[in-house]
Amino acid sequence: MNWSRRQFLATSSALLTAAVGRVELFAQQPATAPPGQQPAQPPPTFTPLRRNIGIFTGAGGTIGWLISPGGVAVVDTGMPPNASVCLAGINERSSTRPIDCVFNTHHHGDHTGGNGVFRASARKIVAYVRVPELQKAAAKPGTEASQVYADTTFTDRWQAKLGDETIHAVYVGPAHTGGDSVVFFEGANIVHVGDLVFNRRQPVTDRPGGCSLAGWIRALERVANGHDAETRYIFGHAKPGFDVTGTKADLLYQRDFLSAVLDSVRAQIKAGKSRDEIVKASVELKGFADHGPVVERVLTAAYEELTTG
Ligand SMILES: [Zn+2]
Repeated sequence: MNWSRRQFLATSSALLTAAVGRVELFAQQPATAPPGQQPAQPPPTFTPLRRNIGIFTGAGGTIGWLISPGGVAVVDTGMPPNASVCLAGINERSSTRPIDCVFNTHHHGDHTGGNGVFRASARKIVAYVRVPELQKAAAKPGTEASQVYADTTFTDRWQAKLGDETIHAVYVGPAHTGGDSVVFFEGANIVHVGDLVFNRRQPVTDRPGGCSLAGWIRALERVANGHDAETRYIFGHAKPGFDVTGTKADLLYQRDFLSAVLDSVRAQIKAGKSRDEIVKASVELKGFADHGPVVERVLTAAYEELTTG
């Protein structure tokens, strides 16, 4: 199947106009970030990457897709208004065949919020075994029953063969949350890493949801070393002006940023500074100018991890 970028853009744009108002769409922000932390989101766009795999970007985490004669798969579901645009675009390109599997890389609302939109079209929604419970715990009180949860879970890895593509979902251990997995498209050599990478921007650090910065660093190393120089990675988020796809170097840069945060906070604890002095010191780390000053939530996560484990 061949689609030009122009066709994708044109279709996405038409669907956007038909399905949701522009203002409504732009008002949506990821549920996991504090108000005011999220920059304006780009308009919904389909972008092919390699073989039959590509991404859908807009408000919420980056959605990955495989659309081939052998099957259809979706990685993460964004948030409802955007998910509807994404599903309509996928249906158009797949002649509305059922989606063989939808993956949730983790439980956050900007990655699972569209599960309900995809539910009727999806044969299964796949996630690491703790994702449904984390999603339930993070849900706004009273909305637990209306959330749509993964129905197929795994503890270590899960695999599917769709036509000429083999897909592996792999749990990476506590990292951005306590339930992160990556989804590897073996034939295309593409890995969707969910929110293991916030490319060149301040990450969301969800300690109640099981975030471990030390674990996150190890996970990035394992994923980067588990693939090769040609592997293309899909990231959950990127700072405006930076890509939501990249290479091993981007994974290791994210690792180095997290390491620098831990090192900086560790040094300040050792120097006898108070918690408040440390978490409210909004400073830029050397070598990470694109990230800007480290925000309080990231410093707090580092402080708590270093002082309480
Ligand atoms: Zn997240």
